[in-house]
Amino acid sequence: SVVVVGSANVDVVVDVPRHPQGGETILGGNLRRTPGGKGANQAVAAARAGGADVSFVGALGRDDDAQLLLDSLTGAGVRTDLVRASDAATGTALISVTGEGENTIIVAPGANSAVAVDDEVTGRIRQADVVLAQLEIPLDVVLAAARARSSARFVLNAAPSRALPEELLAAVDVLIVNEHEARDLAGTDGDPESLAATLLEKVATVVVTLGAAGALIAERDAEPVHVPAPTVTAVDTTGAGDAFCGVFAAALANGTSTHDAARVACVAGALAATRPGAQAAMPAVEDVSAAAR
Ligand code: ADP
Repeated sequence: SVVVVGSANVDVVVDVPRHPQGGETILGGNLRRTPGGKGANQAVAAARAGGADVSFVGALGRDDDAQLLLDSLTGAGVRTDLVRASDAATGTALISVTGEGENTIIVAPGANSAVAVDDEVTGRIRQADVVLAQLEIPLDVVLAAARARSSARFVLNAAPSRALPEELLAAVDVLIVNEHEARDLAGTDGDPESLAATLLEKVATVVVTLGAAGALIAERDAEPVHVPAPTVTAVDTTGAGDAFCGVFAAALANGTSTHDAARVACVAGALAATRPGAQAAMPAVEDVSAAAR
């Protein structure tokens, strides 16, 4: 089974002709409210495309947005009994998107600050095969989740970029980053191979996602392997990285090797890029197996 510990946000999205300057007001298009947040997105991806038993550990407000997120999670088959209710508002991402697809995002974490690893969560994590976390919740919670596991592998998607304490990196079995996050974490510039080599000094397995170019998987004492993504017409890459992480974790939990997990995750990421939105874009298991053939 997979336990995803992370954020849940409502994405409030508006199309804009261009981004406003400081002090400026502009008129945008229709407003959309869709379920998002890296943690919830990855849990949905793992349950839909990964075919694994998936629990989501998160926190939501006592508001209508919480119901939107719970409906999306349960609709995908994610167990939500470990989702806590908080007095803070459900996390919200304010997103403006231009016609060129360039977006700006402001996240108000709200209830996400209340995610906690209590005894019940620890019990679930102890039984898990894979624990998957991201960095949209407090770092001490991520570290507590890593420490709570017994035999589970700890997969960290180090997104969004933040400085990480050494003890957290030391607890990571598989690190998943995009090129931008790889540069930030490595503290240097360079091609994906050299960034992965730097990160391998701290983590045993490093996966660098490369957008349309797929992913690079690097393990100690082995040559890095490049995994291609299928060629698709991308309409909205929101959620592609989350699809990758969720499906990768589910595949690992089902006993798949890291390389084969990266392959199926690349297919899922590519399919997510062909559909608008985040959780709504997560492919089903039959779509992934059809595209992987
Ligand atoms: P992030 O969205 O976190 O920056 P990436 O852009 O690297 O992450 O995308 C994650 C994964 O999604 C890639 O490894 C790839 O499998 C898939 N993907 C993303 N964009 C495309 C695309 N344009 N064409 C095909 N696959 C894509």
